[in-house]
Amino acid sequence: MTLGSTGQIAAPDRTSGSGPYPRLILRNAMIIDGTGAAAYGPADILIEDDRITGIWEPNGASSLTERPSTDGAEVMDLDGSYVMPGLIDSHAHIGKPEQAPNADYVYKLWLGHGVTTIRELGAFNGLDWTMDEARRAEANEIAAPRLRIYPALRAGTLDGPTPVTADEATAWVNEVADRGANGVKFFGTSPTVFGAAVEAARARGLRTACHHDQRRAAQVNALTSARWGLNSIEHWYGIPEAMFRDRTLQHVPTDYNHNSEPQRFSQGAHLWLQTAERGSDAWQETLDELLELGTALSPTFNIYIGSRDAARVRTSEWHSEFTSPTLWEFFQPSADKHGSYMGDWTSEDEIAWRHAYVKWMSFVNDYKNLGGLVTAGSDSGFIYKVFGFGLIEELELLLEAGFHPLEVVRTATLNSAVLLGIDDELGSVEPGKIADLLIVKDNPLSNFKVLYGHGHLRAEESGLNRVGGVDFTLRSGIVYDARELRNDVKAMVAEEKSAQN
Ligand SMILES: [Zn+2]
Repeated sequence: MTLGSTGQIAAPDRTSGSGPYPRLILRNAMIIDGTGAAAYGPADILIEDDRITGIWEPNGASSLTERPSTDGAEVMDLDGSYVMPGLIDSHAHIGKPEQAPNADYVYKLWLGHGVTTIRELGAFNGLDWTMDEARRAEANEIAAPRLRIYPALRAGTLDGPTPVTADEATAWVNEVADRGANGVKFFGTSPTVFGAAVEAARARGLRTACHHDQRRAAQVNALTSARWGLNSIEHWYGIPEAMFRDRTLQHVPTDYNHNSEPQRFSQGAHLWLQTAERGSDAWQETLDELLELGTALSPTFNIYIGSRDAARVRTSEWHSEFTSPTLWEFFQPSADKHGSYMGDWTSEDEIAWRHAYVKWMSFVNDYKNLGGLVTAGSDSGFIYKVFGFGLIEELELLLEAGFHPLEVVRTATLNSAVLLGIDDELGSVEPGKIADLLIVKDNPLSNFKVLYGHGHLRAEESGLNRVGGVDFTLRSGIVYDARELRNDVKAMVAEEKSAQN
């Protein structure tokens, strides 16, 4: 077994999934294609090896002239189940050993929720180990989503310290490009290093994403880096700062210490409350310029949701079966673990965050309505948020922000594929694309809760039942029984618990 620089355990060789098949037919499917088009069906999807080669629908503009023959084909009769593109998580981390007992746990939670591609922002287990996992996933040697790797420009991803000069930054970017990385993740660094690194990344065809560290936002806000050509703004940091007109800095209490996460997260909400109002000139100018520059927003609403209701995230229904004891321990309030800040969270903190969410969500919804690119990311593995579950909650929060369910699906599929630069092959259910698909019995547009891995509670004639959960996930034409993957995860969690007793 291969360990990352942190000791994280690589996934074992794949034992689950069947196919890809020379000819696989999904019969009688309802299709949500990911482009924003309304659902349609029943239709048949013809998949040859790893690719969708045709779609047949009795009354529509079929790409096939007749219903595909089932002779010699593997056939799945879906009987009206919904088929949509596999979800693409635009902000994900495999997790260090203190967050996840092993990579297999994380990958199976993702695949078990229909997540077929993730943008790994950080490579915190070391670039070489992470690239090797990406290669094994691409070759289908392991059961995992495809991994697009954006190492963080800081110590830990490569040997050696964080670059501090423009030349060091350029050399660092060239090094990760040579090793096959797909992009670079920034946390906000000095304008000199950051600017040089974005330029170097663009020259090498690497994409860029930034979590604008608030300590640097006075020098580099979301617009500063967008003007350099940054591809995506992660979370929300740097946006309120770009809209300041009656101040130049966040007004923090004079006893504020940025290294105190409880204080930092408590004051975070106030950034939104201190910035320009919705519809003001500053608000509109910022949206217009980001649109003009083509910058994407990857908001990750779900990861901060505990800030507006701490009890809810601590007691989420899925923790008992799906949250590894290792991860649970990582979530507990502590001064030295990132995101474990709710040790003395107050009513007023939650209220401030509720107001901040309204403003933040309206900014993202306004950007979408202008034509701006918004993607769906989870950032799971922190603040009581569990892999897979986090992205489904993100869908619900995009809905809350004002997106139509079809816009939500597009955000988590085709839009994310556009951001990653893989939309020519992925992100929609169309002939010619790779067969990365999510299959679920109930209509997710009517209720995204049917996608949660622990199921959805529904009162039916037979009584109170748990329905839903993704039924099948296809990745590169390989058919995974999503329930089986989730059962594997439950077994891992149970085993880890019994080993502790
Ligand atoms: Zn993150």
